[in-house]
Parts: sequence; C-alpha cells; structure tokens
Amino acid sequence: MMYTENPVAEASTMLAVVVTGPGEHSLERVPRPSPEPDEALVAVSHVALCGTDLRLLRGTLHDAEYPVIPGHEWAGVVLAAPSRPDLVGQAVVGHNFKSCGACGWCERGAANLCPTLDEVGFTLPGAFAEAFCLPVQNLRPLPAGLSGAEGCLLEPLCVAIHAAERAGEVTGRTVGVIGAGTVGLLVAQLAVAGGATSVTVADPAAQRRGIAAELGLGAVADLTVWHDDPREVVVDATGVAGVFPAGLVATAQGGRYVLVGYSGEDSTPFEPSLVMLRELTVVGSLSGVGRLDRALEVVADGSVRLGPLLSDALPLADYRAVLDIPADSAPLRNIFSVNQEPSQ
Ligand SMILES: [Zn+2]
Ligand SMILES: [Zn+2]
Repeated sequence: MMYTENPVAEASTMLAVVVTGPGEHSLERVPRPSPEPDEALVAVSHVALCGTDLRLLRGTLHDAEYPVIPGHEWAGVVLAAPSRPDLVGQAVVGHNFKSCGACGWCERGAANLCPTLDEVGFTLPGAFAEAFCLPVQNLRPLPAGLSGAEGCLLEPLCVAIHAAERAGEVTGRTVGVIGAGTVGLLVAQLAVAGGATSVTVADPAAQRRGIAAELGLGAVADLTVWHDDPREVVVDATGVAGVFPAGLVATAQGGRYVLVGYSGEDSTPFEPSLVMLRELTVVGSLSGVGRLDRALEVVADGSVRLGPLLSDALPLADYRAVLDIPADSAPLRNIFSVNQEPSQ
C-alpha cells in the first residue's frame, strides 16, 4: 500500500493538540519532529481518545507531565525512516513504550512496572498530532483488512490481554466483567476465547449492553444481580472507585477480582473481611506493555472482534467537542481522523 502526497512529509511544522497544564490545551502549530537514525516519522491516520486521555486533558491524571501531546491509541503510515527507507509508505501500529531493559522489573518481564518507563502520549510526544516519532523496532504492519480506526483499538486490546493474564485461568469458570467499555468488552471476548463457562458484562448503559449482545456476550444492567450468584472471576473495567465494594460481593468464594480501570485519586469504603472470609484474590493490572504481538494474533485468529466497538471518526479539530459528553451517552471510543487513510 502506498501513501503519497502527504504535505506533512515536507513541512517544518504540524498541527498537534498540546496540553500545557491541568485543563489547559489547544490545537496549535508546533515544530514537526525529525526522526533519529533508529526512528521512524509516522503520519497519524487515526487516533482514539480514551478515559485516561480525558483525565490528562482535564488535569485529573496522576503524575502528568506538561507540556505533552497526548495520544497513545493510533494507527499511521511511515513517512520517513533513515535506517529503514523500505518502510516508507507502510501502514503501521506500534509499541508505545520505551523501558530501561536493565532494572529488576524489566528483567522479570514486567516492564510495565519499570520506574523509568516512557510512553507515547504521556512522557513522549503522542499521536494527537499530524506526525510523531517512534523507534523502528516498535513498529508492526497494520494487518491487511484492518482499518486505521480499528488499528487504534489494538492498544486497549494490549491492556485487556494483560488484564486477562492477571485474571488467570478462566477455563470452566464463570466470569463477570463490570463496565462494558472498550477494555471491558475486549476482556470479555478474551474470556470467551479462554474457555469460560459463561461471560457476562454489567453496565447501566443500554447502548453498551447492545454492543455486548452483538458480540454474543451476556449482559446485565446492574452487577448486584451477581450478589446472589457470584462470579468466580470478576474484572472491574469501570475506573469508578465506588464499584469496588459491590464488585467484591459479586465475587465467589475462592475467586479472583481484577482491577483494570483507573479511578484517579478517588477512594471508597469497603468490607475487608469479605476478602478474608471468601479467600478472594484481588489483583491490579497496569497497561499492556509488550502485548502488541499477542494482540495482533487474537485479532487474526478471530478470538476478538474490533469492528462492533467502533464509532464514526471525527476530524481532529473537533477534539474539544467530546470532552463534555456524559459517559453514558458517549461512544465507546472517540476516534479522530488526522491524515487521510492509506489506500490498501
Ligand atoms: Zn488508552
Ligand atoms: Zn526497567
């Protein structure tokens, strides 16, 4: 596939969303980055805005560093790659992370916990821009048959894959996923593929339960229906602190509770003795470092479908319009088109 006549390829400046402080951001013209010898300059075709990005824009994200160009869920096309000119024109997705590779966490395969981990869109310039740079070794071809918008969902799929790993064995077990957002619906599909006896999502938004049904998943509006019939594995993908107490009650004796949603600095009272009396295992799951190749596999083998999770793409210039949409009427992912889509 070829990608030609992109004005960004020759330009010295580009459009980008720049966050300069909590709640302070604008679409502005900034210098276009130049790739280092081992990097590629990627023209962004699509970028998605997730809950973490909303927190970054609103100023409610832990340890945010400013100024920053957000955007870590993206697909694009290689515009330049000094060490790999053969890649120019290739549609790509990529690993967003740079870990040190030498600390104890990196050595034990948990680079997501590396203390000096850098991530595109947080500590490195992200994809809410016409272009950004990434090491060539981080790139993977966008699979044929996947649109740029679908490519954006590979990043939350990495997050879901790690959460499914943290959930452990699900074969022959009942699984409840709280929150039918993008990550929740991806985790639920992975649980089905993993051999769970039943997989049900809980979400008050009828539109989201409809998407769950389209994916062949069971869906309930209120997780408290599980209080009388607890699930053996519960994954909390809501990012709402107040869900935790009811989620624990919904978890069966000997069961496992996985927290993958990020709830900022909110807190909630809960009953610790439930964890003790039921011998629950409560685990956290942070990001999806190193899971991109697995994500490409589960899409290719049909275990996970991305299409039903998509909504129409908006132009990048409209990014502010989505900031005030209430969560229960927002699409699963707000997707923006940046440069034209490559022809396949
Ligand atoms: Zn995200
Ligand atoms: Zn490290």
